[in-house]
Amino acid sequence: MSARVIDGKAVAEGLRATLAARVQALPFRPGLRVVRVGEDPASGVYVRNKDRAAAAAGFDSATIHLPAETSQDALLAQVAALNADPAVDGILVQLPLPPQIDAQSVIAAIDPAKDVDGFHPINAGRLANGQPGLVPCTPKGVMYLLRDAGVTLAGARALVLGRSTIVGKPMAQLLLAADCTVTIAHSRTRDLPAECRRAEILVAAVGRPEMVRGDWIAPGAAVIDVGINRLADGRLVGDVAFAEAAAVAGCITPVPGGVGPMTIACLLENTLDAALARRA
Ligand code: NDP
Repeated sequence: MSARVIDGKAVAEGLRATLAARVQALPFRPGLRVVRVGEDPASGVYVRNKDRAAAAAGFDSATIHLPAETSQDALLAQVAALNADPAVDGILVQLPLPPQIDAQSVIAAIDPAKDVDGFHPINAGRLANGQPGLVPCTPKGVMYLLRDAGVTLAGARALVLGRSTIVGKPMAQLLLAADCTVTIAHSRTRDLPAECRRAEILVAAVGRPEMVRGDWIAPGAAVIDVGINRLADGRLVGDVAFAEAAAVAGCITPVPGGVGPMTIACLLENTLDAALARRA
């Protein structure tokens, strides 16, 4: 293996410690409310981790767990109550939502100033326009990791594999804002391996276990693996074949322990930012 392994756990711990110190110096505790609907097991783990990290960093954090049969109107009423609550700075509605609920309508109902996931169309538009706003946590975490690893961004050829609204698109916007030359690849891209091989920075967010092979990687490239895939044998792997890619890349994130821990740390940072902006 030649690549330097980027330790996302350590970078996230550092960021959480900085945030905890900033929160401790405040005359109030920033309030985060996570709304979970139903029993999706993966969501249960995520929500518990978010709650625990928020409490440990001194935030006033709570989860509102609604039954799986909750109606869209009932969820919208819950969001409206949180919008109106002055003690609440950040609202996160955990996805996926049960089929009777339209996620887009719920996200659009969150006060953009409290939208700590950064998924509201107003915040997505601000990001696209280069205006300040709340930025989705996972792509934000990736930018932290690239900067921490000392990767040169300005002028670099970056490829984002995946175009979802929660990862791929905001990721491309952030790399563009950092002066990368950005390509977005997806399921209809022709000759994906060749596109990947041109990239000095490769961010994989496809949700396909170990799809990106070692011979897709340019020598010395920075490889960021956003994917979290559970295999039949229980192992957790990314979208990149780690051992193969690490033999070629300059630096690479592992799964687990790469991007994942940064997502929660950036959620806390967004909550603190939202609190400071609202209460200024
Ligand atoms: P989506 O399923 O919403 O998007 C996947 C994207 O990958 C789509 O744009 C799709 O293209 C593209 N894609 C799928 N298959 C292929 C293929 N064979 N070749 C090329 N492109 C393909 O996923 P998300 O963006 O929500 O998540 C991506 C991964 O990141 C998942 O593994 C998820 O678990 C993980 N994740 C990790 C987080 C973390 O905290 N680390 C947070 C969020 C997600 P098209 O648009 O053409 O269909």
